Amino acid sequence: MPPLTEPCQAERELLKAVGVSLPSTLRVEVGTRRARALAWVFTRLDAPPAAFALGRTVFIPDPAYFARLTLPQRAALLAHESVHVAQWQRLGAPRFLWQYLRDYLRTRRQGLDTHDPHQGIALEREALAYESRLLPLLEVAAGAEDAPPPAA
Ligand SMILES: [Zn+2]
Repeated sequence: MPPLTEPCQAERELLKAVGVSLPSTLRVEVGTRRARALAWVFTRLDAPPAAFALGRTVFIPDPAYFARLTLPQRAALLAHESVHVAQWQRLGAPRFLWQYLRDYLRTRRQGLDTHDPHQGIALEREALAYESRLLPLLEVAAGAEDAPPPAA
């Protein structure tokens, strides 16, 4: 059985290198039974989600998907999901779910991508904006770590 919680140490350290601290209470479950069961429920409503947050837990149902991402992409994904965790705390579960569902139905009615960066679900737009702002910084920081030390 895979571990219940993934520490994501490398991702946390890379985020720290660009000045972002994931909350220590943030939990990440990759490929757990619970993550896969919840993903199945979402799949009944929409496309299978690559990742989602409920409360302060980030669920990534497919470990192969997570493994295929580069380290900066994995860190950016966790940063995206951490925005949802913060939204959940800011709004409370009922308002978070209500706003998400309301916008989800609106985007569906309008034939839009739920994750459209300009007209998609508002809670997603906030997370997508943060993720796309961080990704280039994370790529530079990861590249700097891989680069050989400068010649003396
Ligand atoms: Zn999202």
